[in-house]
Amino acid sequence: MLTSIAVLLGLLLVTVTGWQLLDPALAALVAANILWAGWRLMRVSISGLMDEAVTAEVLRLIRHVIATNAEGAIEAHDVKTRTAGRATFIEFHLVVPGTMTVATSHRICDRIEQALQAAVRDAEVLIHVEPEEEAKAAGVPVV
Ligand code: ZN
Ligand code: ZN
Repeated sequence: MLTSIAVLLGLLLVTVTGWQLLDPALAALVAANILWAGWRLMRVSISGLMDEAVTAEVLRLIRHVIATNAEGAIEAHDVKTRTAGRATFIEFHLVVPGTMTVATSHRICDRIEQALQAAVRDAEVLIHVEPEEEAKAAGVPVV
C-alpha cells in the first residue's frame, strides 16, 4: 500500500518535472512493489485461501475426543479436517445401530460436538450418521 503510493507519487513527479534521473529508482521501486505484492499473495493463498488439515497432534486429539464421547455408537470413520482462518472444520461418519432412534443418535452427536468444541478452539463439527448395515455394506470394518 505504502509502496504503491510512493510509486504513484514518483510517476507523478517524473511527469510533472520531467526529471529523468528518477526513472531507474522508480523502476526498482515498481519491481520491489510487484515482488512484495506477489509474496503477500503467495502467503495468503498458502495459509488462508488454501485450507490446510490440522496437525497430526490435533488429529490425534480429535480422534481421542470422538472415541471417548461416542458411547452408544459403534465406530467413527472418514475423519476429515481443515482449517480456515481461526476455525477448524471437523467432519466424520458416525456408525450407529440401524434401529437407534434419531433422538438418541442426535444426543450422541451433540455430546461429541460439545466435547470437540471444548477441546479444539473454534471447532465447527459436522457428523454424518450412518446405520451399521450401510457401513458394513460400504466395507467399513464394523466390529
Ligand atoms: Zn461412512
Ligand atoms: Zn443438534
